[in-house]
Formats: sequence, structure tokens, C-alpha cells
Amino acid sequence: SELSFIMIKPDGVQRGLVGEIIVRFEKKGFKLKALKLVQVERSFAEKHYEDLSSKPFFAGLVEYIVSGPVVAMVWEGKGVVLTGRKIIGATKPAEANPGTIRGDYAIDVGRNVIHGSDSVESAHKEIALWFPDGVVE
Ligand code: ATP
Ligand code: MG
Repeated sequence: SELSFIMIKPDGVQRGLVGEIIVRFEKKGFKLKALKLVQVERSFAEKHYEDLSSKPFFAGLVEYIVSGPVVAMVWEGKGVVLTGRKIIGATKPAEANPGTIRGDYAIDVGRNVIHGSDSVESAHKEIALWFPDGVVE
């Protein structure tokens, strides 16, 4: 069944939103397949966001991701990539609807609490990067 890589960013961890975010994915019906709290290296953050390396905000984005521990997770379920993105909300918190994670908990695109894979293909790449030993059956 479909998998998505979901990461609670340093601001989400620091602000105590880990439980709330997990609740939302669990209550929707998705199944937790992997979870770890990790402080990533700069080179690792650069690898995760390599598709954005030419963007003007790339350096700031990497700085943000290494600023504290993140919670890396794999969630499973029908349509979890697209539905996960809906639960998360729009990239820019001002455009994220109330009821979404970013709509409820963020005001700044540079501190937008959570990451979710944007396609099944990126989910595969991201899960291989973050969980090279695989996930539970
Ligand atoms: P993510 O990949 O983190 O789930 P996303 O897919 O909604 O977010 P992307 O376009 O992949 O959005 O951008 C990755 C991240 O880069 C955003 O979540 C945000 O933290 C940061 N970012 C994107 N655009 C900007 C911007 N204009 N200024 C500052 N940071 C930005
Ligand atoms: Mg993205």
C-alpha cells in the first residue's frame, strides 16, 4: 500500500506539536510505519531538499532544518501522499486553510512546521534517504 514520508520540522518539535500532528494522521486512518527523532547534518538537509538547491531561500531552508531535532516518519494508507498534503495544507501558511496543520499552527513560510512528500516517487526517494534500513512490515 502507499507510503509517504512526513517530517515534523524543528519549530514543530520545539513548540510541542508532535503529539497533535501524530493524532491527525492516526485519526484519519493512516498507519505509522517508522518514526525517529533526529538532529540532521547540513549535508543531509541539503540532500533532502536537493531539488530546491537553486532557490534563493535554499540556504535559509537548510539552516532552518538543522536548527534542532526533527521527527521523521513514514505513514501508510490509501492515497496517503495526496491526502497527507491536504492534512498539512498549503506551503505558505497564509494560503493554508484553517483545519490544516499549517493553517492552524503556522504564520511563516520559513517556519511552516511540517514536510510531506509531494508524489509517490518523491516518497520512495525520501524514505530510502531517511530510513535506509527500511520500515516495519
Ligand atoms: P515541504 O517540501 O517542506 O513539504 P512544500 O512541498 O509545501 O514543503 P516546497 O516548494 O517543497 O514546499 O518548499 C520546501 C520548503 O521550503 C517549504 O516547506 C518552506 O519551508 C521552504 N520555502 C518554500 N518557499 C519558500 C519561500 N518563498 N521562502 C522561504 N522558504 C520557503
Ligand atoms: Mg516539497
